Parts: sequence; C-alpha cells; structure tokens
Amino acid sequence: MKNQLQKNYAVVIIGGGPAGLAAALGAREAGAEHVLIIDREVETGGILNQCIHSGFGLHYFKEELTGPEYAERFSQQVLSSKIELLTDSYVLNITPDLKLEVISRNHGYLNLQAKAVVLAMGCRERTRGAIRTPGFRPAGVMTAGLAQKMVNMKGVLPGRRVAILGSGDIGMIMARRLVLEGCQVVGVFELHPYSSGLSRNKVQCLDDFDIPLHLSTTVAFIHGRKRVEHLTIAPVTTQYVPNLNQSWDVKCDTLLFSIGLIPENELSARLRIKMDPSTGGPQVNSTMETSLPGVFACGNVLHVHDIVDFVSEESLRAGRFAAELALGMRRPGDNIALYPGENIASCVPHSLSSDREQIIYLRVKQPVKNATLSIGDRYEKKFKRLIPSEMVKLTLPPKILDHFFGERLRIEVSSGEAE
Ligand SMILES: Cc1cc2nc3c(=O)[nH]c(=O)nc-3n(C[C@H](O)[C@H](O)[C@H](O)COP(=O)(O)OP(=O)(O)OC[C@H]3O[C@@H](n4cnc5c(N)ncnc54)[C@H](O)[C@@H]3O)c2cc1C
Repeated sequence: MKNQLQKNYAVVIIGGGPAGLAAALGAREAGAEHVLIIDREVETGGILNQCIHSGFGLHYFKEELTGPEYAERFSQQVLSSKIELLTDSYVLNITPDLKLEVISRNHGYLNLQAKAVVLAMGCRERTRGAIRTPGFRPAGVMTAGLAQKMVNMKGVLPGRRVAILGSGDIGMIMARRLVLEGCQVVGVFELHPYSSGLSRNKVQCLDDFDIPLHLSTTVAFIHGRKRVEHLTIAPVTTQYVPNLNQSWDVKCDTLLFSIGLIPENELSARLRIKMDPSTGGPQVNSTMETSLPGVFACGNVLHVHDIVDFVSEESLRAGRFAAELALGMRRPGDNIALYPGENIASCVPHSLSSDREQIIYLRVKQPVKNATLSIGDRYEKKFKRLIPSEMVKLTLPPKILDHFFGERLRIEVSSGEAE
C-alpha cells in the first residue's frame, strides 16, 4: 500500500470498528468514489476482535455470531467494495476545513484532505481513578476489557480469585469467561439497586454460572501491597454512601472494574464540536452531522451502544449522508428539535426531519415497569419494562412527524411504576 495512498478523499472515516466499517459501506453505497478508513490497530474490527463470545448479529443478520465473526462479515464487504484501508495509523488532528494529520507505521506522517469526515473512534473504559476507590495500588487491579484482551487474545489469566466491581456487560461477560477458564469469581458488586448490563447477560453469565451479584454494594477499600489480597465490601445507602459499619472482607487476588464506557472524543473536542453532556458524544442532526459542517459521528463515539447491531445500522446511515454531502447534495435542515424530558437520560439524534422516517435511540434514567413513552402530545408507546442499560429504538414515520413540524419536542416517560 506504500506510496499508493491518494491524498484527497470524498469520505474519510476515523476508526475501523463496526461503526467505521458500516459507515464506509454506506458511503460507497451512496456513490462516494474515494473512501478511506483509518484505524490505529493493525486490523479492522475494533473492540469486537476481543469479544469471542456469541450474541452478536441477532438483529442485523438474524443469527448468532461471535464478535470476530460479526466484524469479519463487514470487513469482507469492505475489502470487496474498493474501500481503502489505512491501518496501524493514528489520526492526530482534524482541522475545521477537514484536513487530517495522520501518523502511520508504513507511510510516516501524512496530510490528507476530505470532503466529509466520519468520526467512529469508539469508546474506552472508565478506570479506578474515575471513581477514586480507596486503598493501596497493588498489581491485579484492571478494567474488565483489559482482562478480556489478556484472556481472549493473549491467552493469559489476570488472576485466580477474581472480584468484579460493576455489573456492566463487559464485567458480566468476563465473570463467565473467567469461570470457564478455571478461575473462581467471588462476586460481582454493583452500586445501583439494579444490574447495569443487559438482562440477557445477567441470566446467561451470572445466574447460569451461580456467580453472586450483590446489588447496592461497593468496594470500600483495596488491600494488599504488592498484589491484591482482599477487599472491603460495603453496602451503600440510597445516596450511594458506603456504610462501613456493615462492611465485610472478601479474599481475592484480582479486582476488575466494569463501571462504564467513555466515548473517545479528544479529536471532537479539539474541533470544538458541540457536545451532549448526557451521552459524552457530539450533538448530531438527523443526518448524523455534528455542529461542524462535513463532520459526522456514529457508533460508540456518539453514544454508548449495548448492541452492536444498532451501531451498524446507525453507521450505515451516517456514511450515506456523509457521501451525499461529499457529492454536493445537501439536504434541507431539520425542522423538529428533540430533547430529553421526564426520566429520559439521553436521546440521539438531537433534531429530526419530517421529510423521511426517523430513528431515535434513547435511554431511561431509572428502571420503570408498565411505562408509557411519549413524544410531544401525539405519540405514545407502551413498554412492559424500561431499564437504563437497555437502549430503546423508536422508528417514527413521516405521517407522525408531520404533526410535529417546527416544534421543540420533549421525549419522556409519562407514566409507569418505579421498580
Ligand atoms: C472492552 C469492551 C468490550 C465490549 N464488549 C461488547 C460485547 O461483548 N457485546 C457488545 O454488543 N458490545 C460490546 N462492547 C461495546 C462495543 O464497543 C460496541 O458494540 C461496538 O464495538 C462499537 O463500535 P465502534 O466502531 O463504535 O467502536 P470500536 O469497536 O471501539 O472501534 C473504534 C475503533 O476506532 C479506532 N480509533 C480510535 N481513535 C482513533 C484514532 N485517533 N485514530 C485511528 N483510529 C482510532 C480504534 O482503534 C478502534 O478500532 C464492548 C466495548 C468495550 C470497550
């Protein structure tokens, strides 16, 4: 690939995970000629390469695949669609006129020009520092995702007796993986009174393997000078304050953190793109375009997804709209503003167009049973149960959207029982 790289592209996509791969396919489908994906890893697939468990693709391919199998399907399509790949290469900076500074193992320092850029940089895990867990700083403390990489890609166990703080999906999946690899998982400790991962992961990873889940508890202290020796676990009050009078000790040699993901938005912040504090990602309109014209966003860099199938679907759209813009077709601006109301933590996109079908992704703040979700005063949908860890997808046809023309819409849970 050395010296063949052209410098001007219709669409440049930053990140070759499921979001970047789908965005590139979307851009090609919409007619963009020169499409480039840049990824800092040596191969495409993003975080899916380390997710060797099954459960991917149920919505998109209607079959159950592992993470690498899911990524492979998209990578093969990318390879046969004349999309250029620049791997082992890191995007250092983007300028507002869409020039990219890249460092590449094979090509050195590069300056590229794009007509449209798609941000698809994914997210990283929150670490111990983010929640300031008290205690010593011994070996054996790491994020669940790092343990996943060690076990699934390097064939190395992080320890033998493992505790997990946080019941996020990666933590629960790792609890099961470590039991299958012969470790003892002494418990999963969750601050909230409910699990913070998908219900299916709680059942298949914890319940089926008799791994105890302790709700409303936290790690109050990490003991051990060289290696983790034990943890002090404490129940928390309704204000999430540890009650040390009722604490107990758990012996273990490893503590994994599964306490949430942070969208990788350093490039977006430098571009001064408008951000949404509730998602940690950029604000986007119905074409997934950010506040900076020509810059689009999709996947986990936009908002954290729990199901990769939604990432692919959203990113295909982002790629198509980026290609349209690169080809000189600009759609009329959106005519409906959307913002979160009662018990809604976040919603994406941030504005809608009544011209075509619109897909909205949202999360609730608190679990609720028999809920009614409403948009403005003309749309309602009933749900048996809504929980913060499971993203809701709503599809609104133009005939409903027509009623909302020119409005500022609140999306909210208008009735339901708190769990
Ligand atoms: C540790 C971990 C485990 C997960 N496990 C699951 C799971 O089991 N099931 C599930 O459904 N979801 C899981 N997820 C969620 C998963 O991230 C998403 O479903 C999906 O992978 C998001 O796709 P993406 O393309 O947005 O991000 P990613 O897959 O993270 O891809 C982003 C890509 O961008 C690249 N990149 C970032 N910045 C730059 C830069 N400046 N220059 C060049 N390249 C860059 C990265 O190298 C990476 O390849 C997991 C997430 C994490 C972090």
